[in-house]
Amino acid sequence: MELPWAEPYKIKMTEEIRLSSREERNKWIEEADYNLFNLDSDKVFIDLLTDSGTGAMSDKQWAEMMIGDESYAGSRSFRKLKTVVENVLGFPYTLPTHQGRAAENVLFTVLVKEGMLVPGNSHFDTTKGHIEFRKAQAIDCTIDEAFDINDMHPFKGNIDLNKLEQVYKNHPKEQIPFCLITITCNSSGGQPVSIANIKAVKELSDQYGIPVYFDAARFAENAYFIKEREEGYKDKSIKEIVKEMFSYGEGFTMSAKKDGLVNIGGILALRNEDLYRSCGNFGIIYEGYLTYGGLAGRDLGALAQGLLESTEYDYLKSRINQVEYLGEKLIAFGIPVQKPIGGHAVFIDALNFLPKVPRAEYPAQSLGIELYLEAGIRGVEIGTLLADRDPETRLDRFPKLELLRLAIPRRTYTFKHMDYIAVALKNIYERRDEITSGYQIVWEADILRHFTVKLRRA
Ligand SMILES: *Cc1c(COP(=O)(O)O)cnc(C)c1O
Repeated sequence: MELPWAEPYKIKMTEEIRLSSREERNKWIEEADYNLFNLDSDKVFIDLLTDSGTGAMSDKQWAEMMIGDESYAGSRSFRKLKTVVENVLGFPYTLPTHQGRAAENVLFTVLVKEGMLVPGNSHFDTTKGHIEFRKAQAIDCTIDEAFDINDMHPFKGNIDLNKLEQVYKNHPKEQIPFCLITITCNSSGGQPVSIANIKAVKELSDQYGIPVYFDAARFAENAYFIKEREEGYKDKSIKEIVKEMFSYGEGFTMSAKKDGLVNIGGILALRNEDLYRSCGNFGIIYEGYLTYGGLAGRDLGALAQGLLESTEYDYLKSRINQVEYLGEKLIAFGIPVQKPIGGHAVFIDALNFLPKVPRAEYPAQSLGIELYLEAGIRGVEIGTLLADRDPETRLDRFPKLELLRLAIPRRTYTFKHMDYIAVALKNIYERRDEITSGYQIVWEADILRHFTVKLRRA
């Protein structure tokens, strides 16, 4: 018999989580105005709100916390990080930042000006925010297959080269500061980008004299999918694939709260010394001196170690297998989910799950609340509440899909937890016909309403 696969780590420390009763949860969610963001975390049993900064560090990372060098300039911990970024990721210049969005802020302050266009594959919301804040425009050139949840394309994060070339052809190169490739593509469901596509984007961009940058929060998960799915990469190590991927870019911004395996941090990595100097000036104003950028020395050390661990095949296999395991369980129960299963999360198709809940009553939010009431599990709505109102008409904007995202924190929950989540959803799915109404808005903010919206039962 073939030996089953098992996690490449054992657990040295635990954190208690408490299962509440349905009566308690009924009261708590009402007190939270039916907004899952308003719940205290200790009222949640399994927290799948996000995979950002919610993972577990290893003993070696905790050891780095103890030996962190807190010198203002030239800290040993910074040198460790710089060495890993140089040797493993392939960029000579490293600017630490307090988060991913801070790295975006520093880079975009230098490169993005009013009226510019930044093409890419479904930009992350903070990325889009930083572009639009500068009165520039993010242009989504993702392949059409990404928007069909049943299309089994292995690289649904890919950029459509025709869409990209249209942008390049129709605008002067001075108007396009760079093309941004997000790996993996969160907005299309944690879907990877192939090396072939990255290479083709690089070649096309070269023809037009436009540099390529990466939004690299989940770069290691992207490399794993390349190894598993792309021809010619089966026998390459993750670190070799990572090196090749990044060789096609001038730099990256990274939220280290994902594949950096730390709870806070970010990186701006660059190839060009002049650009590094320009960015460094803004890094100092916004973040801190060049060798710490808003982080403690110990954070830099833990991040350096985290990058070494997240680019190990065994770690990635256990990580992605766990997400896939949950997705496959749901599929086996007949529950409609986005396919193929993404790297960091399972996305449930709420329009098909709860067809009787009217679109105007927020089906994905309704499903999120049902899941909390059923089992104390917290997911997040990626649907109409998130899409917000049209700025002109102030009417709800209905996106193509109404999704409930279950993001799995790294090295945090066990396979038993996955079984628990799957059964909770199965129970709701079996009584889906009884769920015929959703929620109405009582109060909402002018922007980013999903964080603070107050709801009541419709
Ligand atoms: C999380 C994330 C960001 C923003 O990073 P923060 O650390 O949350 O500021 C940017 N891009 C992508 C793809 C992300 O996943």
